[in-house]
Amino acid sequence: MVLAQLGGSISRAIQQMNNATIIDEKVLNDCLNEITRALLQADVQFTLVRNMQTNIKKIVDFDALAAGHNKRNIIKQAILKELCKILDPGKPSFAPKKGKTSVVMFVGLQGSGKTTTCTKYAYFHQKKGWKPALVCADTFRAGAFDQLKQNATKAKIPFYGSYTESDPVSIAVEGVERFKKENCDLIIVDTSGRHMQEAALFEEMRQVYEATKPDLVIFVMDSSIGQAAFDQAKAFKQSVAVGAVIVTKMDGHAKGGGALSAVAATKSPVIFMGTGEHMDEFEVFDVEPFVNRLLGMGGGDWSGFVERIQEVVPKDQQLEKLSQGNFTFRTLYEQFQTLLKMGPMSQVLSMLPGFSQELMPEGREKESQAKIKRYMTMMDSMTNQELDSSNLKMMNESRLMRIARGCGRPLRDVMELLEEYKRLAKIWGKMKGMKIPKKGEMSALSRNMNA
Ligand code: GDP
Repeated sequence: MVLAQLGGSISRAIQQMNNATIIDEKVLNDCLNEITRALLQADVQFTLVRNMQTNIKKIVDFDALAAGHNKRNIIKQAILKELCKILDPGKPSFAPKKGKTSVVMFVGLQGSGKTTTCTKYAYFHQKKGWKPALVCADTFRAGAFDQLKQNATKAKIPFYGSYTESDPVSIAVEGVERFKKENCDLIIVDTSGRHMQEAALFEEMRQVYEATKPDLVIFVMDSSIGQAAFDQAKAFKQSVAVGAVIVTKMDGHAKGGGALSAVAATKSPVIFMGTGEHMDEFEVFDVEPFVNRLLGMGGGDWSGFVERIQEVVPKDQQLEKLSQGNFTFRTLYEQFQTLLKMGPMSQVLSMLPGFSQELMPEGREKESQAKIKRYMTMMDSMTNQELDSSNLKMMNESRLMRIARGCGRPLRDVMELLEEYKRLAKIWGKMKGMKIPKKGEMSALSRNMNA
């Protein structure tokens, strides 16, 4: 199942429909036939695809739709809704209950982010008042226990592991027993990953599974593996009863198409996604925003935004800085300049995470522009040192007062600018290391979809 291709084929079909002068039944049928072909090629079950087609046709009833209706939008929304249904396996995964002991086993290949995700999962629940505990049953990778111990200590989560015991099964059993006695309600067992799917790994995993009898097995998958996701997920599912999937590294460049494959292969829902290396960069997974992203329909679509920026800013000036993640006040200043040049604002900004709703609510472009100009005036009163530093500690009270005096604005306006900078720096920081695609490499599609 080739997910990136699937997303691309479906988007192309929608784009063709979009380009048609008149939207009639033939155009809709052509579009649906293309989508059907793509889904079948991607091994989606025939009945699912057929149901999807029937449902969309029911929603888009040409006889019932009055002339003024935006048929393109109605069709797009119907397709989106039906695709979401495919991603939703229909049955929710086992849900541990607070106060009642559950054992959750994590499986996945080495490097997928399994150990990091174990801690994130524990921390997520701990913040909600659970009593989680971590057991390191990875005796294969040197340093695995140290890593888990370090993460667990940071988050103040009890952990269990051994430097000397080489049998993962006995460690897992001992750890689980111990934390059951301590009344932990979420006992998380991290298993070993290795580089490849090999018989020994699966056998070991199966043994740990049988010995600890987990209530839930979570398959952790790196979102960038793309095409390999389906086979990988299936192989794990055949060895142990995978009940849920967590997709990691969704902050990277990959659109995370592999998640759909994993759902199809394991018939299990994606429950969370990892969005960074830090403990709290972990989000509950929602189907609809994900499908939006897969098809390039959503806000926050970098490729559309990057392409647009390349149209107005001299090459490598702006983009280099963004990809280095070196977000200073000067970067912000230059971005504001670019944005003012780019117009029409709302269209550009809808593509830009962080800017769209908070800074620039739709329909209030004039106010938004005024706000940006105000921010820029305040930054005009900053020294070069302040503009080029991303160290907020340096912005002490006397500096803020000086900036406020310099631009003739109240201190609270400068504080507001500081808050805005902090919020955007966090979002832009996530672009660190991102490969900047060359012009033409990106889907022109997202622009059409956003239009
Ligand atoms: P394991 O071998 O599967 O246990 O993988 P690790 O937990 O050691 O993670 C491998 C690498 O991926 C580490 O450098 C992690 O910091 C990183 N990582 C894990 N999850 C994420 C994520 O959601 N986003 C990013 N950017 N990095 C992640």
